[in-house]
Amino acid sequence: MKCPGQDTRYWKPDDIFDCRCTSCGATLEFFKDESARRCPSCGFRMKNPRLDLGCAKWCPYGPQCLGTEPGARRDEG
Ligand SMILES: [Zn+2]
Repeated sequence: MKCPGQDTRYWKPDDIFDCRCTSCGATLEFFKDESARRCPSCGFRMKNPRLDLGCAKWCPYGPQCLGTEPGARRDEG
């Protein structure tokens, strides 16, 4: 069970937003807490430009809540 801060029921409308695939220009729907999403059109793995982990950024239970350590994996170029 997720905490309320990570529950989509408590999200604002703009916490889910459309973004253009940088590879093919197709529209992708991102959730703010998704680090990346695969483009259904071309298969490109698009990084979330507006990644927002909400309370998991500072909550001591954030890593367990998300199932990962925020910022632990640095695969950015
Ligand atoms: Zn694409």
